[in-house]
Amino acid sequence: MQQLLDDIAVRARPLAVEGKVADYIPALARVPADRFALAVRMADGSEHATGDTDMAFSIQSISKLFTLAMAMEWIGDELWERVGREPSGMRFNSLIQLETERGIPRNPFINAGAIVVTDAILARRPMLESSFRTTMRLLAGTERPQYDEEVHRSETETGDLNRAIAYVLKAYGNLREDPMVVTRAYFRACSMAMSARELARAATFLMTPDHDGPFVRGDHAPRLRALMRLCGLYDQSGEFAYRVGLPGKSGVGGGILVVQPGRYTACAWSPPLDRFGNSVAATAALELLAAELG
Ligand code: GLU
Repeated sequence: MQQLLDDIAVRARPLAVEGKVADYIPALARVPADRFALAVRMADGSEHATGDTDMAFSIQSISKLFTLAMAMEWIGDELWERVGREPSGMRFNSLIQLETERGIPRNPFINAGAIVVTDAILARRPMLESSFRTTMRLLAGTERPQYDEEVHRSETETGDLNRAIAYVLKAYGNLREDPMVVTRAYFRACSMAMSARELARAATFLMTPDHDGPFVRGDHAPRLRALMRLCGLYDQSGEFAYRVGLPGKSGVGGGILVVQPGRYTACAWSPPLDRFGNSVAATAALELLAAELG
């Protein structure tokens, strides 16, 4: 397994030159473009990793997977009156679609959808900031996960498009809390910093049906995987399904998390992104991994 991961790193890592590190959140641009990690956690609990696997990076939209899991657990089906379950076919932060569809986001993994999910959780758990951190620490099995203050500040300073999305949601009656409060909490979750190894571990609940972890009921896992498969890589979800074939979730920090039910979870990280906002080398690494492991 170690040999396999090392070989994948040798082949996938150089492809990072084809991408570009996200700089619309200025603090993300300071991350060295040549970082690379690939971590795999098998169903038996064994872990295998190569590269910068213990280096924490900004999980960004991978947080949407975990906030959705929290919302499904704490809120239940009424969440789906406020957000859809269809692929968007649009950029992750598109405002146009939200306007034409009168404030109902297509799915919980685009920014508008995640902002609604955040709002719904805030109504039940106003201390979302600390519950999210606690949940991620429990899932990762370590106290290490923490918020990156610089990334949070940087996104708060530059996040006008997300604030605009929140105000459109509010105008259509699909946001209960103050848009400034909701986006602040949304930026907070996006600024969580974790390593590839910790993320692969944190996703275990999506792989094993008998998981007895902190918060996720077994019957939510197949539904979360269905949404990951259809919407987890934005308007590249079809391409990712074709190439990698596993349910996944990406973030503009360059991480991609995938699950093979009953067998393994894996997280690849490389900061440079393609024009859709997904990591070039992480996609390639997961394509090679899935081809080998199934
Ligand atoms: N915090 C980022 C944003 O709202 C998340 C986007 C992403 O990771 O895809 O723009």
